[in-house]
Amino acid sequence: MLGMSRRSPLLWIIAAGVMLGLGTFLYRMVRPATGRSVRVMDWIRNPSAHQEWAVRAGTRCGTDVPFIIPTDGFIGYLWDDSFKIGHRHQGIDIFGGTGVGVTPVVAAYPGYLTRLPDWKSSVIVRIPEDPLQPGRQIWLYYAHMAGPAGNSFISADFPPGTYEKFVEAGTLLGYQGDYSGDPNNPVGVHLHFSIVLDNGDGHFRNEQEIRNTLDPSPYLGLPLNARQSVGGVVVCED
Ligand SMILES: [Zn+2]
Repeated sequence: MLGMSRRSPLLWIIAAGVMLGLGTFLYRMVRPATGRSVRVMDWIRNPSAHQEWAVRAGTRCGTDVPFIIPTDGFIGYLWDDSFKIGHRHQGIDIFGGTGVGVTPVVAAYPGYLTRLPDWKSSVIVRIPEDPLQPGRQIWLYYAHMAGPAGNSFISADFPPGTYEKFVEAGTLLGYQGDYSGDPNNPVGVHLHFSIVLDNGDGHFRNEQEIRNTLDPSPYLGLPLNARQSVGGVVVCED
């Protein structure tokens, strides 16, 4: 009896430690995106009350940074944010704070634009030489440029079936929308922007998998990695 009562507190401490560790792990998995969701809601409800949260299209956040910010708005979700257990966000979401088809989206970097024949809301731009890792090709993916019913807001310069059309940085690509692929389930008006790896054969890899994408932080000069950027609003520093 004496032995057991001595051991029990130790077992309890170990059990508590395991629970705490597990709790911290789950919290880290889910909590950052949950905190950001609250801000996204605040922003969508009343953007004018939070203008200091906004980034501006065309801005370069730092001197040695290759990309310009591709649209106006609040960077609501980051790269590697988790919306549910097991999910990892492959890009960043910039919420314009306007209705659909209003907030312009521009090219962040020069390259060759493709819009596949069945793409209503997305374009992808091939960059033959990764500016931060010369010798490899990367792709910039711009998505959600359509209304709830799939009505496209992509510029008329890039109709479905456009292949390899050169665009300069700052070229108007289209306007932010809320198309999710399901007309009954639109998302908030935003641009989803991601950097996609090449498969080595001159084609972009599957953008849906985070391992096929790059942390956009060094390309935009902003802390856009959800695991490193804890809590704060991400804006350009003066
Ligand atoms: Zn997204």
